[in-house]
Amino acid sequence: MCRHLGWLGGQVTLSSLVLDPPYGLRVQSYAPRRQKHCLLNADGWGVGFFDSASQDGTPRRWRSPAPLWGDTSFDSVAPALRSNCVVAAVRSATVGMPIDVSATAPFTDGRWLLSHNGIVDRAVLPLSAKAESVCDSAILAAMIFERGLDALGDTIQEIGAADPKARLNILAANGSRLLATTWHDTLSILRRPDGVVLASEPYDNDSDWEDVPDHHLVEVTADRVTLTALDATEGP
Ligand code: GLN
Repeated sequence: MCRHLGWLGGQVTLSSLVLDPPYGLRVQSYAPRRQKHCLLNADGWGVGFFDSASQDGTPRRWRSPAPLWGDTSFDSVAPALRSNCVVAAVRSATVGMPIDVSATAPFTDGRWLLSHNGIVDRAVLPLSAKAESVCDSAILAAMIFERGLDALGDTIQEIGAADPKARLNILAANGSRLLATTWHDTLSILRRPDGVVLASEPYDNDSDWEDVPDHHLVEVTADRVTLTALDATEGP
């Protein structure tokens, strides 16, 4: 399904993360290398980032329902946008979900940015007036925000038990923490000297990329990367 990428580290340009790498999100929008559940990610894209000039820490978002590969405006401006913490995604909409900006990751509660790579039966999710869209990922994001990101692992285990067919790869950031889950899709880590990248698939052929095993929670802070196994055995 969708492909996403997170960054926590020094100040880097959005283009260096999303557009420039040989197999980065721009290329993944039309030629992903590890995508199992569909062919390409043409149903929009979004980049959210924390801005050191912002007084209150509100994240900035730039989203579009059009394919990333043709966005010449973002291509022009991205080299001038810098951040220490980024969540970006390219989207392949699940059948039946709306294709518009409000259904496009990253979602936010004003403090966190969140992307969902996967699919979940909306019947197992609580109704939320705060969901930005009727898209499954937007409703899931609202539920995760409501429960709090410290409970991310528990929330994913619970939803995974309620909907055994769900795919629940989450990526979230708040400016100083990057959190991710693997639940039936791929995720890789690159530890660079200037920070850490989490990505659905490697954006280049660097041999330092490590694959995260399925059913794990990943937490990245300024000084460490922690992997915790999630329990995928509990049935409803
Ligand atoms: N279900 C979500 C959507 O429709 C995410 C899809 C995906 O991961 N490809 O946008």
